[in-house]
Amino acid sequence: MEWRSASTGARRPKPAGRRWLLPAVLAATVLVVIALLGVVRTQYARLLDPPERYTAAPLPLRASPTAAGSRLVAAALVEKHVVIGRSVRGVPILAIERYIGPIRRRVLVVGSVHGDEPAGIAVAQLLERLRPPVGTALWIIPDLNPDGAVAGTRGNADGVDLNRNFAYLWSAVGRPGDPQYSGTGPLSEPESRAAAALVTRLHPAVTVWFHQPLGIVDESGGDLRVEARYAGRARLPLRRLPRYPGSAAGWENHTFPGTTAFVVELPAKADAAAVARCAAAVNAL
Ligand SMILES: [Zn+2]
Repeated sequence: MEWRSASTGARRPKPAGRRWLLPAVLAATVLVVIALLGVVRTQYARLLDPPERYTAAPLPLRASPTAAGSRLVAAALVEKHVVIGRSVRGVPILAIERYIGPIRRRVLVVGSVHGDEPAGIAVAQLLERLRPPVGTALWIIPDLNPDGAVAGTRGNADGVDLNRNFAYLWSAVGRPGDPQYSGTGPLSEPESRAAAALVTRLHPAVTVWFHQPLGIVDESGGDLRVEARYAGRARLPLRRLPRYPGSAAGWENHTFPGTTAFVVELPAKADAAAVARCAAAVNAL
């Protein structure tokens, strides 16, 4: 009946429902503003103090490049096999060169010189599977005395101790078959000639000659710091053995000043851990 009175021109009262419209809109607006403020505050707090997942999220993108990216950044490993000579019985003496990137220095490892001291061959074979340090050409002669290794003798097939046959302070020692028989003259044996020729060509900064069974690193006359660093990494004591005439390390240290050649005497029984330490120590030189 209110409508009828409106039609008479009397002041029309507001409908009862519309009285609540403005407060309802205001309340809704306030709620929306509060909610928005809460969202803004949360996002701002994350900016100031981001939770772990926010900082960690981008890292895997950088830490796990694609396979193509890995190939682009990783320099290629180069491996070459060279026959550097033949033993008295005609067995090829193998050398392996391994390097990554431009060569800045060379390191030579001789796994075995005396046929009855084979433990260093395992070190050499392990080094053939490890990545050499970038910029270092690692040269490996696994076995300089293959005839002695087959026969289980210290000397080569001529009965010569190759480590008395090099051309510095050589002297006539013993007779054929004697443990330290030095041969008929300096470098009389094809095995020592092959090694000397390679060293002369490569001029290695460091040469490691493996022997057995004393379990020490010998102060062989080169840079003592290099020997000490190797001994520490290999966990072998550093000792000074006699300087034998015609030894390979003695010849190198005398003939190529500024380079270091030394003897590592592995223990009689070198276990896998010792072999691994001695190989890792070469790569740390
Ligand atoms: Zn030896």
